[in-house]
Amino acid sequence: MLTVTRMDLDGAGSPMALVTKILKAEPDLPIPVPIEDLARQLDITEIRVLAADGFEGGLITDAGRSEGFILVNGAAGRERQRFTVGHELGHFLMTHHAPKTDAGFTCSRGDMRRARLAEMTPAVRMEVEANEFSALLLMPPPMWRHAMNGLGDPDLGQVTALARQFGVSKEAAARSYAQYHDAPVAIVVAKDGRLQRVYRNLSSFPKLCVAAGDPIPPSSAFHRLPATLGQMSDMVEARAQYWLESDWGTPLPELSEQVAFQRDGFAMVLLWAELAEENEDGEDNRTSKERLRDRQAKWGDRR
Ligand SMILES: [Zn+2]
Repeated sequence: MLTVTRMDLDGAGSPMALVTKILKAEPDLPIPVPIEDLARQLDITEIRVLAADGFEGGLITDAGRSEGFILVNGAAGRERQRFTVGHELGHFLMTHHAPKTDAGFTCSRGDMRRARLAEMTPAVRMEVEANEFSALLLMPPPMWRHAMNGLGDPDLGQVTALARQFGVSKEAAARSYAQYHDAPVAIVVAKDGRLQRVYRNLSSFPKLCVAAGDPIPPSSAFHRLPATLGQMSDMVEARAQYWLESDWGTPLPELSEQVAFQRDGFAMVLLWAELAEENEDGEDNRTSKERLRDRQAKWGDRR
């Protein structure tokens, strides 16, 4: 039974501040988060599923935010619908968000994927904030960290399991997984052999030299494996120089990759970088043969 009200959220304006207050008022919030019940508890009077092209979600409300009415694209899967409800609830609770038209907020599929950029227009910033709110609410950091605790080596199977546990799409789970994992990991989303998006741990995973629209590097295991739906490859060694930007004189990390093929030509590639362990003089004194042997010992049980 939820008891949180908008009074509990007074003074919170950012996605993180709002979610922190919601969790404070609902310390036993179940997982998966009952997003529709939560929205109703916070003065969304109706959530209506619509079959319409070109939009993913909408919010109708008044300037004073007395109540709200959420529309959701019925053609989307259950997890995407949940994310959309969270996104629209974010627009409703962040009272500095103003709709583009008098008809209210109408948000596209692209809006649901917008991520933080160095430069953002106010309209883009609103979409980014609504996405951050939805992600934080559906994958509350304390519960998410707890679920990721002790998972061990990175593995795409964990992303699938977390997505199921939290009732989010694999892609939403992938983004948080890369962000929260202790190891430097990145998850590449590919479609028809080309890179679409990358989620990486910004503080620990190096910059990629492959950009959106580029083909997946020919050296990748992606091209060697049969595209079997729902199957995940083993973690195998990757060629770092084809994935990562290199600085002259700085050794590239050792890189591993794991591939999972999905529906409609989509695939995910998990990249795991192991940064060179440096001695005090900044050199790795192992020979390349020794490095290979160490790595094989580490991975031996997986082959
Ligand atoms: Zn929006």
